[in-house]
Amino acid sequence: MASRNQDIATVAIHGGRTLDSEARAMLYPLYQSGMFVHEVVGDDTAISYSRVSNPTVDALEKVIGALEGTAPAVCFRSGMAAETALFLSVLKAGEHAIVSEVVYGGTIRLFREILEPLGVHATFVDSSNPANVEAAITPQTRIVFIESPANPILTLTDIAAIAEITKRHGLLLAVDNTFLTPVLQRPLELGADISVLSTTKYIDGHNATVGGSLATNDAALAERFRLIRKTVGSIQAPFEAWLTLQGVKTLPARLRLHCEHAQIIAEWLEAQPCVARVYYPGLKSFPQHELALRQQRAPGGMISFELDAPYATAIAAINAMQLCTRAESLGGLETLITHPATTTHADLGPELRQHLGISEGLIRLSVGLESPADIIADLEQAFAAAGCSKPATEAAHEIR
Ligand code: PLP
Repeated sequence: MASRNQDIATVAIHGGRTLDSEARAMLYPLYQSGMFVHEVVGDDTAISYSRVSNPTVDALEKVIGALEGTAPAVCFRSGMAAETALFLSVLKAGEHAIVSEVVYGGTIRLFREILEPLGVHATFVDSSNPANVEAAITPQTRIVFIESPANPILTLTDIAAIAEITKRHGLLLAVDNTFLTPVLQRPLELGADISVLSTTKYIDGHNATVGGSLATNDAALAERFRLIRKTVGSIQAPFEAWLTLQGVKTLPARLRLHCEHAQIIAEWLEAQPCVARVYYPGLKSFPQHELALRQQRAPGGMISFELDAPYATAIAAINAMQLCTRAESLGGLETLITHPATTTHADLGPELRQHLGISEGLIRLSVGLESPADIIADLEQAFAAAGCSKPATEAAHEIR
């Protein structure tokens, strides 16, 4: 139906969507069935078994593919299942990956605990400087995996610059685009081969599901992802896929508000005497602000900050939040507040965290869709309750 390039807001609602031929239901049905009937013996055209594929999961794959600008994506039970399938697809024992050193903690754990013992190695580098990536390439390297913005301090990597290097060396480039989604950043258009998403976050957007996807235009690679998925049994469940099909329709609209609110809150945080440092790509003070403007369509909805106070005060402030929810995830309607050192990045240990610049008192906010004035009021009361110097602002209450 697309006779001209449609805006991403339209693609999110209509792109890749098909009508179920049976009942012509407007919402694609939930095929909650483990298996499907063969017309005759040897009928290999039909969907057969939901560990291999399922019509509702297929429908989600077409929608994510439409958003990514690729063939249908391959959907998994979680973002980590997607990453696992990616690395198992492209790496054998003795081979090597280069990974951003500031990255979701689970990615580091996957290498340390699962892949390294199988003889698959990784070098973690500061990919914000592309020269570090090039210097880490060995004859065994097969893939570069970057996360930008990276969890939790939002370090950016110049995707086009890394793509130039990977193409020159005949390597694959995968980008974990969970924090921005294809609505705000287009990894494949910047030269990446694979876009990785934890659909758990903004794609679903309602904190209702856990899921992941891999999108690529390389048909052989996509086939390999599907082979790993059916073999290890990590396909997305039909109900999760169905919920995600509904949530993703509002993705562009939600992201507009996430970004707008995050900018207001980041600017407010930066003005507070009790806040030592704010990490938000939309702030002029963010060291990679220029790259954010060039590479991203907007700064995103994630903020991290440090209080100018001892560790115990940061913990007390998090515990004093009344509206912001203490929870580990991100990307949903509710504002979530996280302490990375004891949650998402706990397994790294204090030394590695210190090396990466993830301070013990770092606080991460996934800015939701509540009024920013109410979030600011909650932060303000929590800082005061924790004994942090009282911010001198009434302006917060005027923001609507
Ligand atoms: N990538 C990023 C950037 C994440 O933040 C997460 C989870 O927090 C994942 C991957 C893993 O996704 P999932 O929790 O869906 O397995």
